[in-house]
Amino acid sequence: MSLTAQQADRVLRLFHVPSLTADQRIGAKCSWCTIPLNERTGRIDLGGAGAWTPHACTTCYDARRTWLDTYYRWLDHTRTCHACQRADRCLTSLGHRVLYLAALGQVDRPLGDCPTCRHPIQPGDRFEPRLSDGQSGLIFGHTHTGPCPEAAVNRHP
Ligand SMILES: [Zn+2]
Ligand SMILES: [Zn+2]
Ligand SMILES: [Zn+2]
Repeated sequence: MSLTAQQADRVLRLFHVPSLTADQRIGAKCSWCTIPLNERTGRIDLGGAGAWTPHACTTCYDARRTWLDTYYRWLDHTRTCHACQRADRCLTSLGHRVLYLAALGQVDRPLGDCPTCRHPIQPGDRFEPRLSDGQSGLIFGHTHTGPCPEAAVNRHP
């Protein structure tokens, strides 16, 4: 599965939080970093109509585009790699993980909870992407790889 630019666009629009300010709702300021948008910052249309026309600066948009791209590349790998399906150590997966965590660090998103142990996944844990269908679209989640770490189970959030 590869991600088209159109699909990526649709996904990135779902990132909006309902708490946008008036300036953000009309696209005068970036939906994510809140800088005033102009020719220099770029002004990327995130969809919407009427009084709801959120836009983003090029830096924020590209960071999220990269995050999504690294997520899908890693996910593609884990779905077809025999080592990954056995939860064995896999160097290719490790490479994807490094790129993914670097991209994730630029978009300020948590890894979320592991669907198996229901505890928050930490960047140091062994984990992999887990894509699922939610009520309002795809959920770009993660799951521990192999047995969930004891530390996660005993960790108190
Ligand atoms: Zn921005
Ligand atoms: Zn692998
Ligand atoms: Zn877990």
